[in-house]
Amino acid sequence: MCLGRTVIAPRLEIDLDAIAHNARTLVDLLAPKGIRVTGVSKAALGSPGVASAMLRGGVTGLGESRVENLARLRTAGIVALLTLIRSPMMSQVDRVVRDADVSLNTEALVLDALSATAVRWRTTHAVILMVELGDLREGVAAEDVVDLARTVGQRPGLTLAGLGTNLACQNGITPDQHKMDELSRLVEQVEAACGVDLSIVSGGNSANLDWAMATRDVGRINELRLGESILLGTEALHRRVIDGLRTDAFTLVAEVIEAREKPVQPWGVGAQSAFGERSRRTGVGTVRQAILALGRQDVDTGGLTPPNGITILGASSDHLVVDAGDHAVSVGDEVAFQLDYGALTTAMTSPSAVKVERSAAPVNARPPPGSGVDVA
Ligand SMILES: *Cc1c(COP(=O)(O)O)cnc(C)c1O
Repeated sequence: MCLGRTVIAPRLEIDLDAIAHNARTLVDLLAPKGIRVTGVSKAALGSPGVASAMLRGGVTGLGESRVENLARLRTAGIVALLTLIRSPMMSQVDRVVRDADVSLNTEALVLDALSATAVRWRTTHAVILMVELGDLREGVAAEDVVDLARTVGQRPGLTLAGLGTNLACQNGITPDQHKMDELSRLVEQVEAACGVDLSIVSGGNSANLDWAMATRDVGRINELRLGESILLGTEALHRRVIDGLRTDAFTLVAEVIEAREKPVQPWGVGAQSAFGERSRRTGVGTVRQAILALGRQDVDTGGLTPPNGITILGASSDHLVVDAGDHAVSVGDEVAFQLDYGALTTAMTSPSAVKVERSAAPVNARPPPGSGVDVA
């Protein structure tokens, strides 16, 4: 917990071997079911180190929600099937065709634009149509899928690679057998109507793992897009740790700038704090209070888990106040926190949290040609 003085804080330490281990474990669990894994590195902003670790773990491709992150992977020399998993912006279709092999789509206008760009550049772009199955984020209504699918193949420069769906992200709707059966049924309808074989049937995200492990019938589902489970070791419905996965791939380390015995209770006339809250402190007497140079500007502090015996008392923009309990914490010491998904995304996007990637394997080695997936 208290690591003594080191280089630079706050810093987000990233254990690439833990990420590779998690990817490998999930790939091996799902392979017997005929399900391959697209590693979603978006929470790590398309870090080439994280992406390489996922590929070392056997994922068949990489998924990113932002085209900038895909460009980052390409520039770093990552060789893998790259999928844009957020619907493309009209203003970015050129970059999508350039940097993504596949994109997830729902809008005819976007498909037109992707087609025009692919034709202009004499290339082809693969499309997965997303189906709305009840979570009410992206997706075409089930009854419209066949019609839209038919038009994809008619657009020059585009190939219809498959269908996908995304649940549990917006409204927490569970990807269960019923939803997955519905997706499989739609796949068969599209194949019959369009006379094609769909090579990718993308059933969902880390919230699909409960279903995938338990089911005896995956139907046509042959791929999942996994981010959180690989990065944090948890499934996304109940945030349970998945057996055999490591939860310590990411650690946020902050430095103590004040450590003093202080009263538990504030005194004076109570009103709002900097973030519009009122004191929720309970108890009497004194605490060993420590202040860390870390705040809401750096990370969603509500998603941090301190070491055992340390309690977070509150956070403002630049200060995280903790009860250090029985820990002997002094100025200059460091405290290491675990992060949930929200804390991870905010720490990753924070310019003030320095990212330090570690691996026993050579980090910058080019991954082996990764895809093995035929999207044509
Ligand atoms: C973020 C995202 C994923 C990955 O979700 P996790 O819960 O992190 O596994 C998969 N698909 C889509 C469309 C996403 O936006």
